Amino acid sequence: MKMGLRHRLMLLYTLAAAVPALIGATLVMFYLSRQLRDTMKQFQQQTQASLQDYRHWIEGSTQTLLTETFTTVREQINRDLSLQQSQLARQQSQLIGKALGTLGQRTASSTESLQAGIARTLLQTLDTTAEGIARSQSQALRQLETSAADTSRDAIRQQIEQTNLNLTVNLSRQVNAAIQSALTQLTLIAQQPALQRADLQESEWILRALQDREPSYRLLCLRNATNEKLLTISDFPAPEERLKPVTNQLWQEMTHRGEPVVGEVVMVDTGDGPEPVVPVLVPVRERGVELRGAVGALVAMDNLNALIRTFRIGQHGYAMLCTADGLILAHPDARRIGQQETQFAPLITDAGSMNPRLQEINGWLVALAPIPSLNACLIAVQPTDEAFRLATALQSHFLQARQQQQQALDNTILRIRQQASRQVSQQMVQHHRQLQQAIQRAEQQTRQEATRMLDAQQKAAQRGMDQMLTRSLLQSQHHLQQELSQLAHLSDLSRQFTALTATLQNQLKDQMINASLVGLMCMLLFMLWGSLYLYRTINMPLRALVEATQTIAGGDLSRRVQLPTRNAPELQELADSFNQMVDALVKAEAQLVQTSKLASLGTLASGVAHELNQPLAIIRGVAQQTIQMLSRLQSLSPSGGEGTGEGTWIRQLLDDMRIIERQTQRMSQIILHLRTFARKPRVDREPVNLNTVAENALILLREQLHQRGIELVEEYESSLPPVLGEPNSLEQVVINLLTNARDALEGQPDGRVVIRTRRVQESGREWVELCVQDNGPGVPPDLRMQIFDPFFTTKEPGKGTGLGLSISLEIAQKHGGTLLLGDSPAGACFILRLPAAAQQQHAA
Ligand code: ADP
Repeated sequence: MKMGLRHRLMLLYTLAAAVPALIGATLVMFYLSRQLRDTMKQFQQQTQASLQDYRHWIEGSTQTLLTETFTTVREQINRDLSLQQSQLARQQSQLIGKALGTLGQRTASSTESLQAGIARTLLQTLDTTAEGIARSQSQALRQLETSAADTSRDAIRQQIEQTNLNLTVNLSRQVNAAIQSALTQLTLIAQQPALQRADLQESEWILRALQDREPSYRLLCLRNATNEKLLTISDFPAPEERLKPVTNQLWQEMTHRGEPVVGEVVMVDTGDGPEPVVPVLVPVRERGVELRGAVGALVAMDNLNALIRTFRIGQHGYAMLCTADGLILAHPDARRIGQQETQFAPLITDAGSMNPRLQEINGWLVALAPIPSLNACLIAVQPTDEAFRLATALQSHFLQARQQQQQALDNTILRIRQQASRQVSQQMVQHHRQLQQAIQRAEQQTRQEATRMLDAQQKAAQRGMDQMLTRSLLQSQHHLQQELSQLAHLSDLSRQFTALTATLQNQLKDQMINASLVGLMCMLLFMLWGSLYLYRTINMPLRALVEATQTIAGGDLSRRVQLPTRNAPELQELADSFNQMVDALVKAEAQLVQTSKLASLGTLASGVAHELNQPLAIIRGVAQQTIQMLSRLQSLSPSGGEGTGEGTWIRQLLDDMRIIERQTQRMSQIILHLRTFARKPRVDREPVNLNTVAENALILLREQLHQRGIELVEEYESSLPPVLGEPNSLEQVVINLLTNARDALEGQPDGRVVIRTRRVQESGREWVELCVQDNGPGVPPDLRMQIFDPFFTTKEPGKGTGLGLSISLEIAQKHGGTLLLGDSPAGACFILRLPAAAQQQHAA
């Protein structure tokens, strides 16, 4: 298998990293093990010598130390003992103080709780007494309040009863007066002779006059001696059927008693709704004795109604008039007249008693006063709240007063309580102070006693300690001597130490091998990581590059290189350049296609031109012959054919033929030029006049500029020296410059192209310049450097190839000249500068 660059790189890296690392590790291990062996040997020798020295030194110094220690320990123990004793004394006194303190606290707290108990009981008693006082006082006040409210309610009730009675009396008086006045008036009317004679017409006048004067007569009638109606005066149709029984009863009563009679109130519809009226019947007697008939009337109670309507008790109270059956005769609300009273019915139907009475029904205070003359009753009603508002106000007043008194009482009790608690606390403070003094005295006495006891204890302990110390010091001397005898075993210890160092050496060796292994592992890991890194940064991008190139080489130009990582900037740069190269390749391919198309078109054009040239030459020849013939014919005709029809015809034909001749000549020129242009460029150069080059280029482009409305200005220097060059290539340059100018002026209304030639002297040399200038948009400053690059174009796709200027520049340079974008205030000005031919030849 063939090893690629990437694999060789990886192998190289592995060898470069692993071999020196392995050699280095082996050397280090060898050196370290030698060092370790030498060090261990030295350490063993030194340790044995120091152990011997140490043994001698310990034997001598232990004896001295033992004696010194004995004395020091004795002194130390004595010091410690006295210190401990003094501590003990301190602790004892603290304990006593603490016990006394606790005793004092307990005594104080029990005294305080006792005092607090007394104070609590005192305050509780005070509270109970205050509550008792408050309760009895509020009871008394409540009783007073209730009795006052009851009294006020009774008084109000009596007052309302009285008011209603007064009203009833008033009303009955008015009713009686009205009825009496009606009876008097009707009696007077009944005494009128017309009525006695039963003169109906006159009687009608009289009764009408009466009704006009007194509208409360709703109906007036005249009856004969057999109770037949002779005449009726009424503003409304009288309900005969309803009135008949009433009239009959009144007739009987009147004939029986022999005087005017008044009936019970009846309701009649007078046209404005039901109205209560009083039926009256007055006898008509002749000379005051013989009964001739009667005058009947229905008297309305207008005054009574007005009185009831205007009547008010309080704000919402009102009165009404009802029959004993509950039929409403008068009411403030006119719609209720004639209806049955249901709300206060229980009081009305209690008709047994004819006395005034009062009752509360459904939140209303209802007062009833009978009117016997009408067999009716007057009812005065008022909402209970309103009626007893005074009593309620009185009650709330009382409640307020009671609350104020209660407040005052509470304040007094609070004051007494505060005074009592102040006195109790003062007494408590006094008691506390006395107790403290007693406790302090007791503490002093106890302390003195404890100090005495402590001194005695201290002396006894001193004695005991001394004896114990002597005993223990003797014992430790004996033990130390025994220990010293054991130092003889030190040589054994040294042997053991040697064995230990050997073991240690072996262990160290093992550890070194382990460390080397770990180092190797780390190295391997590092190598692995390095390989991975190389794989990612070199291998993978290279593979991507290779794959992409293979794909592109296979003909897929749409493929671009995409590196899998960004960690390789150089490779990324390579990939970018590669991608740019492919882009350029795509453009070049397109251009190649276009160029090959143009080439075949050129060949075709040259063939077509050749084919066309023949017929054109014939047409031109024929035209020229015809012109000659016509000219001759014209010259032969008298006076040149002027003024005759034939002469005009010949002249016209001559003109047309000349046009054909001119145009065919032009066509031949174009064809000739096309053939010349399509020819391959010659390698050898010849003297070329740039004016001719410009004119030849314009053969192809003049018409195009003209069609687009672009003005063409030609300024050629007449004595222009020739240049040495290949005419077709130079014409190609001028055509490119003119085509760019044409495209730049596309759609511009006042487009103008100037083509100018001149000779220039510069740095002692002669040059020939051809300048193509337009007044288009010009080249933006940031693009000035790029326009000569191959494939750079700003034109729409399909219109520009971006090769025109780059090819032109190349041609200019091949001719030893330059092609520049000159400075121009508006539009663009391209200058082709070539060395003059004489000079060039001279230089060559
Ligand atoms: P192409 O004409 O195919 O675009 P060229 O190399 O001839 O290629 O021109 C390159 C670019 O230079 C044009 O696309 C245009 O942007 C600019 N350029 C050339 N001539 C002119 C001009 N007379 N006025 C303005 N821009 C021009």
